[in-house]
Amino acid sequence: MSKQRQDKEKLKKLIGGMSSEERAMLMELLSGERGGESRDMDGFIAERRFAGGHVCPICGGAHVQRNGHQSNGSQKYVCRDCGKSFTIRKDTVFAGTRKDLATWERYMECMAQGLSLDRSAAACGITHATAFVWRHKILDALGVAADGKAGLSGIVEADETFRPVSYKGDARRFSECGAGREARKRGGGSHTRGLSDELVCVPCAVDRKGNAVAMVAKLGKCSAEAVGKVLGGRVAQGSTLCTDGDKSYRKFSASNGNSLVQIKGGREVKGIFHIQHSNAYHRFLGRFLDAFHGVSTKYLNNYLTWNNAVVHTRAGFRQKVADMLDAIADTLFSETCLKVLKRPPIPILVKNQLNTKL
Ligand SMILES: [Zn+2]
Repeated sequence: MSKQRQDKEKLKKLIGGMSSEERAMLMELLSGERGGESRDMDGFIAERRFAGGHVCPICGGAHVQRNGHQSNGSQKYVCRDCGKSFTIRKDTVFAGTRKDLATWERYMECMAQGLSLDRSAAACGITHATAFVWRHKILDALGVAADGKAGLSGIVEADETFRPVSYKGDARRFSECGAGREARKRGGGSHTRGLSDELVCVPCAVDRKGNAVAMVAKLGKCSAEAVGKVLGGRVAQGSTLCTDGDKSYRKFSASNGNSLVQIKGGREVKGIFHIQHSNAYHRFLGRFLDAFHGVSTKYLNNYLTWNNAVVHTRAGFRQKVADMLDAIADTLFSETCLKVLKRPPIPILVKNQLNTKL
């Protein structure tokens, strides 16, 4: 074994034995070391946004000129076609931030490790509330970015998971309008038996390259519509769908141009087809979600994005952070801080919660 490799192994052991708090501290130290190479946020966004020339984000006009700076140092532009002025950060996750790109990058390092809000806030020098808003702004943008990608192909294993409906953070507001847990009757009714409306149905699929799709579809038991809502347009035509015996997948695979292999009777393997990746994915996802001690239903899609687009991917740590940064810088949408906090308790009932511009 070469000296370099021995050193690497030693370091790996050392880091492996650290608590996540110690790791966060180490990252803080390392990112301080990196100070010299920290990139300028406006330059980073402009490189992408204006790659094809200066274009106005409001009217699409091409007569855009620099026009001074905002108080936080952000470059301002004015459009000669529509007369409106804007900053380079308009409609990006970074709009209105006073923190630099290095701080955001450090925050994404914390997310790639699945750190808690308190630990992430401490590592980045931001408040718990800011850490919360950043988490969901980043995940909203990642969700939009991931949805624009091609999706799953080849042998695709699909199965649904169920999570309890949670009004975490909304309990008081929701009980006031008479629809919260207080409204639930126990005892006489039969509606709580089996897969009741108190469970959120999340169809999931994973291919052999490790790409995964999962999204909140409806309350209660799975249906062909629910499967179509989540897998439709995200599983390539000609792929082979492997599922358990659930009939919801038959209609979907026929209409989506997929062949279907159903593995029934509690088995996992049928020749070269199996649902072992799917079962492993569900265990992985369950552990990831359980670590947050109850995820509010209104944010569940964001946690699914976090798991699928970051934690569950096969990319190395540095690559994960770089991919996150690229994806959120390229995603334009007008989700403000306020909207992140005032999302409806059960987003399934509200369509187009994101005002996507791309
Ligand atoms: Zn314009």
